[in-house]
Amino acid sequence: MTNLQPPLSPTFADARDLGFSTRHRVGQVTIERVVESEYARLNPLELLPDATPELIAENLAWMAPRFQDPQSRLLIISMQGFVVHSAGKIILVDTCVGDCKNRVRKDFLNKEWGWLGKLRQAGVEPEDVDYVICTHFHVDHVGWNTRLENGKWIPTFPNARYLLTREEWDYWRSEAGRPGLDRTGDYLEDSIVPVVRAGLVDFVATNHVLDAHIRFEHMPGHTPGLIGVRIDSEGQCAIIAGDVMHTPLQCRYPDWSTRFCADQVLSRVSRRRFLDTYSDTGTLVFPAHFPSPTGGYIEKDGDNFSFRYAAAEQSMEDVT
Ligand SMILES: [Zn+2]
Repeated sequence: MTNLQPPLSPTFADARDLGFSTRHRVGQVTIERVVESEYARLNPLELLPDATPELIAENLAWMAPRFQDPQSRLLIISMQGFVVHSAGKIILVDTCVGDCKNRVRKDFLNKEWGWLGKLRQAGVEPEDVDYVICTHFHVDHVGWNTRLENGKWIPTFPNARYLLTREEWDYWRSEAGRPGLDRTGDYLEDSIVPVVRAGLVDFVATNHVLDAHIRFEHMPGHTPGLIGVRIDSEGQCAIIAGDVMHTPLQCRYPDWSTRFCADQVLSRVSRRRFLDTYSDTGTLVFPAHFPSPTGGYIEKDGDNFSFRYAAAEQSMEDVT
């Protein structure tokens, strides 16, 4: 077992490594986080339109330093994918920002994060991946669907079936989705269309069942087709929760949607339902952008909720 308590005064370097265990076991299923980057990057007042400077200041005492950098006051945000081993198959959930992508945002523009190397360190070659799931089609969840080879975007995982929801595809191909793509850089064209053209995509429903342990759970609002990936095995339960929330501030203030939410009201409804459903149940939740070690538990706190990191998790050596 590893001591997973964070240092009291961490320095938030780019893609820092705090030495957390990245693997979790849920019955017969294992989940491993593969972090692309993690640092203080988002101003909570810009991310959360309903937040006020007073409320942000009031919460700093518990938010810093784990979730918020006390100096810059920026939220610490992780970009990561999740490798799930289930029933002999390798399933990758979310594929981060990606390398060499032409993006509007400077911190995504033409970056080379080397995430594929980290995936290999986790024992997974791209050819080994059986399924790729994108919780939704935002720029930071689809990037490694493709990689650049001789000036062309080709599928990174040539032997995988990419399980993408029909609802998400239809939305981003419609007029309604266009402004989001224009604002970010057309990531559909370089990160999703090439896998569709290669015939690797199965468009599935938002309640898709992958195997005896894994199924999708629809949580619309942030985007219309946002799904969580729920894992049930041997009485244990976990959910890779995508962007149903971005910061534990949204446990305390479940009504705070982000400015990235396509439908702020529906996002609020889904977040409340998510928090209600999973609070005090022992379900290990992985909100995509929570800083390391990411996984934790939702607890009821009066009318609202709080988030508690999972205690020391088993390393892979402990998993037999
Ligand atoms: Zn995201």
